[in-house]
Amino acid sequence: MNRPAIRRSAIALLLAAALIALGRNAERFANRVAGSRGPVVSPRGAALHRSSLVADLHADSLLWNRDLASRSAVGHADLPRLREGNVALQVLTIVTRFPVTASIRRTDPRAPDLITLLAVTNGWPVAAWTSLADRALYQAGKLETLAARDPRLRLVRSRGDLDRLIADRATDPRWVGALLGIEGAHALDRDSALDELYAAGVRLIGLAHFFDNDYAGSAHGLAKGGLTARGRDLVFELERRGVAVDLAHASARTIDDVLAIARKPTVVSHTGIQATCDNPRNLSDAQLRAIAAAGGVIGIGGWATAVCGDSPADVARAFRHAVAVAGDDHLALGSDFDGAVTTPFDAARLDALTEALLEAGLAEASVRKLLGENALRVLHAALPDEPIAEDARGREARARR
Ligand SMILES: [Zn+2]
Repeated sequence: MNRPAIRRSAIALLLAAALIALGRNAERFANRVAGSRGPVVSPRGAALHRSSLVADLHADSLLWNRDLASRSAVGHADLPRLREGNVALQVLTIVTRFPVTASIRRTDPRAPDLITLLAVTNGWPVAAWTSLADRALYQAGKLETLAARDPRLRLVRSRGDLDRLIADRATDPRWVGALLGIEGAHALDRDSALDELYAAGVRLIGLAHFFDNDYAGSAHGLAKGGLTARGRDLVFELERRGVAVDLAHASARTIDDVLAIARKPTVVSHTGIQATCDNPRNLSDAQLRAIAAAGGVIGIGGWATAVCGDSPADVARAFRHAVAVAGDDHLALGSDFDGAVTTPFDAARLDALTEALLEAGLAEASVRKLLGENALRVLHAALPDEPIAEDARGREARARR
């Protein structure tokens, strides 16, 4: 090699090493907790939190290079911290594609994808480097492996699973449930994908994530259109199977289109409220009312673009407004833990939110509903009695893998 070629190779090697280091350590920069001191919680707040059924509608913890069986100083949620935070049910959401230039106003799906960097640098199977369905199946498999190692982790795939989880927790609060979700129906990138992912336990699907796809417009997309014909078929099929439809990140037109045809209550797994933090990521009062009127549930989180702040009081302010607009039967926790955001507390300190909700003047009975009762009721309504038998296509596709 001549000298310029050697220099080019050296630069390429350095760049590759830097990308690998970035990919393997991405979570250290991505998922932080605001504030250094632990929150102070009153005996009343602590007792209310301890005696409530807590359910959180959104965490991306399966995305990262971390063993969720052990307590980590990095990120927001793992099994030990979910138990410390008295969480009965955590929805664990799968992310399959995230353009590097993503913004809440306008996201071009053709930009380079950050999940590819995670897949390549964190040792995901080669199929998951390119196929979005395989990325989703890989993350679903991580949860399956975790459940095989932890005798008190229940994968929730049916109403029966949810009932058993609540019954078991009555005698042993170490039981924690996990329900699998997906952010963005673009993950269904082959005909058999829905069968395969349903068989893998996915029971909640967000129609669009940061960009418009073949099924629905995103609030952050280029066109921000509504449901496509394929999207309408998908909503009916998800309802038939008992998979909750998640409207987080959906465009305003998609939300309207889904509410016009949905026969089951919908979920907004993680959002903020425009009245207390005005941006296109968050829901308007009219949207809050419409989703509530259709029997749905809205998960509110505490990251900067959701609540325009980073304290438990900022999250409580959003909840208080939403309760005033939509009543206390349709709101829930939607933390976005481990979703590449900074949150006011991690899963272990969810009691800080209970305290802030009490301080905001909400009654104890209302706080219990927001902490979990509403989320559990709506998920129970969305889930199948018992999983429906998968059709032959899904079995064949998995046998080929
Ligand atoms: Zn999200």
